[in-house]
Amino acid sequence: MNRELKIPSNKGYVIWFTGLSGAGKTTLAEALQKKMLENNIVTKILDGDILRNGINSGLGFSDNDRKENIRRAAEVAKLFIESNIITLCSFITPTNEMRNIAKNIIGKNNYIEVFVNCSLELCELRDVKGLYKKARAGSLSNFTGVSADFELPLNPNIEVNTGEYSIEECINQILTIINKRDNQIHE
Ligand code: ADP
Repeated sequence: MNRELKIPSNKGYVIWFTGLSGAGKTTLAEALQKKMLENNIVTKILDGDILRNGINSGLGFSDNDRKENIRRAAEVAKLFIESNIITLCSFITPTNEMRNIAKNIIGKNNYIEVFVNCSLELCELRDVKGLYKKARAGSLSNFTGVSADFELPLNPNIEVNTGEYSIEECINQILTIINKRDNQIHE
């Protein structure tokens, strides 16, 4: 572990990971959770794939359903931060409108957007869940990057490139920016 990095926390906020399927949102959220726990900071992960099996089951991938998926996730995240729990949200969140829905519900001071940037080619090569293959074969509709758009985030607080940097390096980049922000808030 990098001893230089202080890990902040006495206030809940949301780290919202946005990016293509396979870009690394879940991987980074889990790595960050582990690192924070090593420093006795408890976090909560809200993951699109998991919420779609529970609170968001019944929602599909139309634009409206995707917005509702994000709205519910953001409302749940808000409940966690009200209890001062750092909440790590992994959702593709393909449009700036959807990112704004999340940001407005959570509140801009508590919303840290991380653009998990990775080229479509590399995500497709990774094809962690075999979904790109299915989408290319036409058996999965509205699949982001293939048959649905992914808008580049206009104003992310943090951008990490998982094609260029290791998981550890990406986590350190995220923590560096969070620490800076935390210091400014407490100055
Ligand atoms: P997503 O949640 O965005 O759909 P996942 O985290 O499920 O993506 O999958 C990302 C895949 O990419 C994992 O297999 C992970 O091990 C791999 N990977 C390789 N390099 C990185 C990196 N620097 N950051 C995150 N994931 C990475």
